[in-house]
Amino acid sequence: MLWEDFINSYWRDWRTGNKNNDRDKLEDPEWLTKRLKKYALLETERPNATELKKLKTLRSLLWDWVQAIVQGKSVYGEMLEQLNIYMDKGPVTRRMIWKNDDQAEISLLPLNSGWEQVMAEIAASFAEALLEKEPSRFRICENPACLWVYYDDTRNRSKRYCDDKLCGNLMKVRRFRARKKAESEGE
Ligand SMILES: [Zn+2]
Repeated sequence: MLWEDFINSYWRDWRTGNKNNDRDKLEDPEWLTKRLKKYALLETERPNATELKKLKTLRSLLWDWVQAIVQGKSVYGEMLEQLNIYMDKGPVTRRMIWKNDDQAEISLLPLNSGWEQVMAEIAASFAEALLEKEPSRFRICENPACLWVYYDDTRNRSKRYCDDKLCGNLMKVRRFRARKKAESEGE
C-alpha cells in the first residue's frame, strides 16, 4: 500500500541500530521513480527542497498517528482534519477501467501531477486503510532499531516483527544471549 511504502521510506539499520547507516529513500531518485510508477502517480520531477520538507512533514505525521494507534490512543479528530487538508489539494477524476477477468471498476485517477497531488494520494491511501482495514492491526516492528510499519494480517494478530526471519530472528538470538549471560553471571 502506498501509505506503508511512504512511511517506511525512512530506512533504519535494523541489524545494528547504527544511526549513521539510516537512509532516507525520499532523497533517492530511483526509489521515488519506482514508487511513482507503481502507484500510477503522475509526478515526474524530483521534489525540490520545499517539497521534500513537506513530504517529510507528512511522513512524520503519519508515523505519529500510527504510533498513537498502536498505543491505543485516540487521535481521530485531529487526523481527519489534517487528512482532509491534504486530500483537498489533490483532485481526482473518475474512469471506468476493465480488468483482466472481464470485470470493470471505477477508478479514481489523480487529476494533476505535482507533489501536492502525490501527498493527497498518500493521505487518501492512509484514510482508506483507516476505513477499510482494522487500525488495531497496524503495527510497528518491535525491534527498536527497525521500527518498520506494517499491517498484521495474521489470524491471531500476533505478528510482532516486520519479518520473522529477519527482525524476529535477530531479537530471538538477542534474548537467548541475554539469558545465557544472565545464567553464567548467576553461577
Ligand atoms: Zn523489523
